[in-house]
Amino acid sequence: MYANFDLHLPKDLSAALAILGDAGDDAKVMPLAGGTNLIVDIRARSLTPAALVGIGDISHLRGIDVTNGQVVMGGKTTVSDILRSPELTDRASSLVDSARVFGGQMVRNTATVAGNICYASPAADLVPPLLVLDAEVTLERREGERTLPLSEFYLDYKRTARRPDELLTRITWPARSSDSVDLFYKLARRKGDAITIAGIAVALGVADGKCTRARIALGAVAPIVMRALEAERMLEGETLTPELIEAAAHQAAQAASPVDDLRASGKYRRHCVQVLTSRLLTQAWRRLS
Ligand SMILES: Cc1cc2nc3c(=O)[nH]c(=O)nc-3n(C[C@H](O)[C@H](O)[C@H](O)COP(=O)(O)OP(=O)(O)OC[C@H]3O[C@@H](n4cnc5c(N)ncnc54)[C@H](O)[C@@H]3O)c2cc1C
Repeated sequence: MYANFDLHLPKDLSAALAILGDAGDDAKVMPLAGGTNLIVDIRARSLTPAALVGIGDISHLRGIDVTNGQVVMGGKTTVSDILRSPELTDRASSLVDSARVFGGQMVRNTATVAGNICYASPAADLVPPLLVLDAEVTLERREGERTLPLSEFYLDYKRTARRPDELLTRITWPARSSDSVDLFYKLARRKGDAITIAGIAVALGVADGKCTRARIALGAVAPIVMRALEAERMLEGETLTPELIEAAAHQAAQAASPVDDLRASGKYRRHCVQVLTSRLLTQAWRRLS
């Protein structure tokens, strides 16, 4: 049923990086985390790796911590870990909301955050929340590590800035205070176990009645999960009114480039971006006012 491939099961990070380092630019040697994307693709024969490097035994890559004003999440943290984390309830409610509507229980128990980010599906549900939280990703290879904003990680449809010999080891973002709210909504045919038609995340910060920080991220409506930068700029520095929120939501919908597929038409998706962005911004602003 499966094409042949080698399976490496390194015991620690340096052993994993050594195997990936020896393979160099060979994208056919791939990290294996939960396998909920990878094994499905191999089974469907849409992917034929030469070797998989299982990272299941590298336990320190899993977990969530808050240190020095930063939330630090290991790449191997699972969707279920997000749901069980007391640290995230107040610090990343959009991410918790997205984990709640992610797949079914068995998938949530194995699917990892790094796998969701690196697979680079435009419909990846954890990515819009991480974008509005201003997350950064750390990529490690044998020669060293680098950290870049998640907003710079996606280059094009299923193309990322990750080199084949790099592992995404952690995701970090600033732990924000009570003057900030982030929300996520997934529109799909069902609440769970359904591919997203439109996944919208927003985050707002407020001081003295004005919006100090606005983030809007759109999933499943463009080749990559994208930020609606122009719409964000319309809100920052302003006191949000229903008219301004509607105008920003309209701008976000215009920035999207949704396609028709079997789940929804591009026209419907664009309409959903407008409606959901407006709804989430209104809810976030109300919570802050
Ligand atoms: C039934 C089902 C339901 C699903 N529902 C959803 C859903 O609701 N929302 C959603 O967004 N997705 C969903 N998915 C897709 C999938 O579960 C997620 O994308 C998941 O987060 C992938 O993580 P993983 O650990 O299984 O990754 P894998 O399948 O192990 O890997 C995915 C990709 O990431 C790479 N990779 C993995 N870890 C690393 C790392 N640390 N560093 C570098 N590269 C790495 C792999 O090489 C591969 O290219 C679903 C899948 C199934 C089968």
